[in-house]
Amino acid sequence: MSKQDLVNLNLEELKEYLMSIGEKPFRAKQIFRQIWRNHVSTFDEMTDLNIELRKKLKESATIGTLQLLNVKTGDIGLTKKAIWKTIDDKVIESVLMIYPNRSTVCVSSQAGCPMGCIFCATGKLGLLKNLSAGEIAEQALWAARTVKEANNLPIEENRHNVSKENFPEALTNVVYMGMGEPFNNYNKWWRSVELLNHKDGFNLGARSFTVSTVGLVPGIEKLSNEDININLAISLHTPFDSNRSELMPVNKKYPIATLIQASKKYVKDTGRRVSFEYCLIRGQNDSEDDAIALAYLLTKPEKFPCHVNLIPWNPVNDTGLKTITKESRENFRKILKEHGIPTTFRIERGRDIDAACGQLGGEYQNLVSLGGISPTTFGFSAFKREN
Ligand code: SAH
Ligand code: SF4
Repeated sequence: MSKQDLVNLNLEELKEYLMSIGEKPFRAKQIFRQIWRNHVSTFDEMTDLNIELRKKLKESATIGTLQLLNVKTGDIGLTKKAIWKTIDDKVIESVLMIYPNRSTVCVSSQAGCPMGCIFCATGKLGLLKNLSAGEIAEQALWAARTVKEANNLPIEENRHNVSKENFPEALTNVVYMGMGEPFNNYNKWWRSVELLNHKDGFNLGARSFTVSTVGLVPGIEKLSNEDININLAISLHTPFDSNRSELMPVNKKYPIATLIQASKKYVKDTGRRVSFEYCLIRGQNDSEDDAIALAYLLTKPEKFPCHVNLIPWNPVNDTGLKTITKESRENFRKILKEHGIPTTFRIERGRDIDAACGQLGGEYQNLVSLGGISPTTFGFSAFKREN
């Protein structure tokens, strides 16, 4: 019989599980705290439980199921990409990024992705599987442990404005922008938000989560009715339907007008702004006309409370696409600014280890499928400069 993954259980389910193995339900809170508050990865670390119970749990349950295949370090030690194997041999990736006073983990919600956007490495894989809530949330647990561990290491010098003084003490943000489309795995994905938001456990505040969607309108509608008010980012990428349908097949089902209408309703229902992601691809969506049409879309007939996140397209092999120049990016931003649309440039991280947006291609998937790679515990030193 396979072991029960405790990371996949909420507090109520954990109580039920303990009762099912003949234990008192009050133990659930202790175990929940150990997993989600103290981020323990072994039952031996649960020193507030007696040895018999720890032994029993070791035999019947696990704390997570993901096996770490590799950790790659980039941006002089401030970006880490974890490559995982799921229990059913699918490969997923997570990226942890350290900034001054904050740290963000970008987690996967699916292995591969069924949406087929032509510019994205994950899209090339197709859907390999929907992740469980536990598999999604476990990636954040890894990130929290890694940040904590990094705090105990000597910081030799400032890097990318990160110093000893402003090094984040804990994980501060979870963004669902890794592999997969969260709204295509809505219920399990949302459970991961609930697990990570739980006050008795991980306790990450609603505003610390951001979900990014390719534009699945039913998901946007569903999110507006949830009682945890997280941030919503929508991948728009072009103001023209013909172009969007070419880049993102989902547009044939939910064209731009429908998407914008759903986004406006979301803003009305929740009182929150949304952000639009716009990945600039040379010659595809980066012209002046594109910028002007985008500005019109977001300001006419009335101004829409949103902001646009401009992302340079990160290279993905065999797409035939090209990344933009600095000038066209500046020009694009200037036009949006002239129309009063707030923009940000996403600070790109992880390009040197194929960990930037859209580059999570599961490079190990073939090796795992062929049985050519086994999990290794990586003797890495988090955030030490690795030469
Ligand atoms: N499936 C969701 C979330 C994951 S992708 C979505 O599509 O929104 C996160 C973001 O990276 C999306 O905005 C996506 O369009 C963008 N992206 C995909 N491939 C990219 C690439 N090669 N370079 C830059 N951004 C990319
Ligand atoms: Fe899937 Fe998002 Fe990539 Fe599109 S951009 S294929 S939705 S992960």
